[in-house]
Amino acid sequence: MILDVAREQVLERGEGLDEAQVREVLRLPDELLDDALALAHEVRMRWCGPEVEVEGIVSVKTGGCPEDCHFCAQSGRFESPVRATRLDIPSLVEAARQTAATGATEFCIVAAVRGPDERLMAQVREGVAAIHAAVDINVACSLGILTRAQAEELAELGVHRYNHNLEAARSYFPEVVTTHTWEERWDTLMLVRELGMEVCCGCILGMGETVEQRAELAVQLAALDPDEVPLNFLDPRPGTPFGDLEVMDGRDALRAIAAFRLAMPRTVLRFAGGRELTLGDLGARQGVTGGINAIIVGNYLTTLGRDPHEDLDLLASLSMPVKALSQTL
Ligand code: SF4
Repeated sequence: MILDVAREQVLERGEGLDEAQVREVLRLPDELLDDALALAHEVRMRWCGPEVEVEGIVSVKTGGCPEDCHFCAQSGRFESPVRATRLDIPSLVEAARQTAATGATEFCIVAAVRGPDERLMAQVREGVAAIHAAVDINVACSLGILTRAQAEELAELGVHRYNHNLEAARSYFPEVVTTHTWEERWDTLMLVRELGMEVCCGCILGMGETVEQRAELAVQLAALDPDEVPLNFLDPRPGTPFGDLEVMDGRDALRAIAAFRLAMPRTVLRFAGGRELTLGDLGARQGVTGGINAIIVGNYLTTLGRDPHEDLDLLASLSMPVKALSQTL
């Protein structure tokens, strides 16, 4: 049985499941779901420890993106209600300060762009320096597809981690985005790795992909050996091409959490967007006792998440220390 194999291979030896094995986990019957989550939790405790990493994100440029990612309310090509806005440097520093006060160790600057132009690079240059001078927190960036020169500059600025999501399996990506390719995203991730920044690479599940493609995605992510994987579940936004898709079944989402943890025993697996909708109130608890070991506090760019204090209270009730707090207490 796949969970017995996983216990020996992943829990004992720390070797992630391969594609066929991930498929088996994704197809487990409901009666075995709790067992799969329990094993994923054991794997996470064994290979990552009990700490939960907390991260805050801020958007310096929201909406008006020229790309056509079919899930995204920030694309300027769809009739979605997100307006293009920009954030100034003092507001950015204040957001970093508030994020650090929650115990978060990472603060990610995000922009809805295909890739940064010179104006955005100048803003990031100034913003990263201002945050480093005023707040004790790691700065991460998510600015889309990078040129080598831009990636080099971010590394020199001391950007700790770079986020760029593969979003979907290679075979499904053309159904999700037509204005750039999966390979362009992959190339940026390789640059980030080569230049010594931590690689954060996530995905969105529930976009109409098959179970086979979900397994394909898990092993493509694992092949990157990412430091962090933010796991999103599609929140179908009105006006986007995926606006009419059904919300992913909660049990399938939990199966996916367990399967992704078993494919990537050592990575930081982060709950990102859409989890409230897909999993409801119980989702956070089942996730962090089923393989998840990081959360985002505050809002998820365009849709409201939970109050950060609810998440922090939950971690306290589960005796899971927040990384930064456990270092300072
Ligand atoms: S590149 Fe990013 S911001 Fe732009 S449409 Fe795609 S997901 Fe949205």
